[in-house]
Amino acid sequence: MPNTSTRPLGGRVVADIADLANDRAQWHLDLALAARKPAPVRVSLEECVDCDEPISQARRLAAPGCMRCTDCQVLNEKEGARHAR
Ligand SMILES: [Zn+2]
Repeated sequence: MPNTSTRPLGGRVVADIADLANDRAQWHLDLALAARKPAPVRVSLEECVDCDEPISQARRLAAPGCMRCTDCQVLNEKEGARHAR
């Protein structure tokens, strides 16, 4: 049961309308989250797609699905940020 606050009103105890709305919103959110599919497992590349240098094991473990070495990823993100302006 959700933690809904109550208050007396006309000899009855009623729930606060905001709490009821929050409970309903939480119920919808819980349903949507439960219906989500798990994120696909992506395999990191062993060589960078930009410079063909090996991608370190540490980076491949830290960023599953990575396609670039750290240096090329930094450059790629800087270029992306520049084009986003
Ligand atoms: Zn690279």
